Parts: sequence; C-alpha cells; structure tokens
Amino acid sequence: MNKNPNYAKNLKPFKRQKRPYSKFEFKKMYYSGMTISEIAKYYKIGRKIIQNDIKFFNVKARKTAIRDQFGAKNKNWKGDNAGYAALHRRLYHSQPKCCEICGTTNEKKRYEWANISGKFNDPSDYKRMCKSCHSRHDKIIRNIINMKKRRG
Ligand SMILES: [Zn+2]
Repeated sequence: MNKNPNYAKNLKPFKRQKRPYSKFEFKKMYYSGMTISEIAKYYKIGRKIIQNDIKFFNVKARKTAIRDQFGAKNKNWKGDNAGYAALHRRLYHSQPKCCEICGTTNEKKRYEWANISGKFNDPSDYKRMCKSCHSRHDKIIRNIINMKKRRG
C-alpha cells in the first residue's frame, strides 16, 4: 500500500477523451436533424468520434423525414446563429414530459426546455421544466439581470 497522499491523485487510468455530451443530449441532437458533420463541427471534434458514438450509444438510424423536417432543409435552420426558438426546435424537437426542478411528471402539465445560464448555444445549458417552474426560473433570471443593470 502506498502511503503517499498524492499517489491516488497521480493515478490517471487511460481513458478516451471525455464526451462533451451525454447520451441523452447526443440522441436529442441526432434526432433533431443535425448531421454527423454538424454535430462534429458544433463540438469541434472529429466526425469519426460521432460515428463511433452512434454505435456506442446504440442510436438507431433516424428516418429521413425527420431530417428533412427539422434539419438543414427547414427554413428555420440558421446554423450557428440559431435564435432561442430555433435552437429549441433544433436540439429539443421532442417535448419534455417531466420537470427536473419539482420532479412532477403530471401529464396534464405543460413542459418546456428552459435555458439555465444564458449559454443558448450550449445544449447542456437546458433543463426540462414544468410551466410554473419555468416562469419562476425566468423571473429569477430577470431579477438578476435587473439587479446587474441597477448596479451598472
Ligand atoms: Zn416544476
């Protein structure tokens, strides 16, 4: 047994580069209609990695129809300059069905994707929220912005 307290810290097992996305985010992007090159470009990684991840995550090949409707052929597609709404459509085509804040899965509630900290181009900066948690969240954000404005 090695008693050096830094011993464990210095142990770095060989790992492939950490994925910049979760399986969930990856599938969302893929099924929202982004092509392999678009995802690769977005994360500044190689297309090979994306192709491997499709296999790794066991992502089923999507239907062309989805691609046509929600991808580059859609007139709402604005590439990297996608606006808030367009980005929502692009990354999170599917409706969330639960709230990550209060944990409700009540089918009668409306669920939305809420941006957390203003990094609108960052798919990991979104959370599923029910309508009431979302509006509360937006109010808090607005207050912070107003506070900053007042302080100059
Ligand atoms: Zn909620």
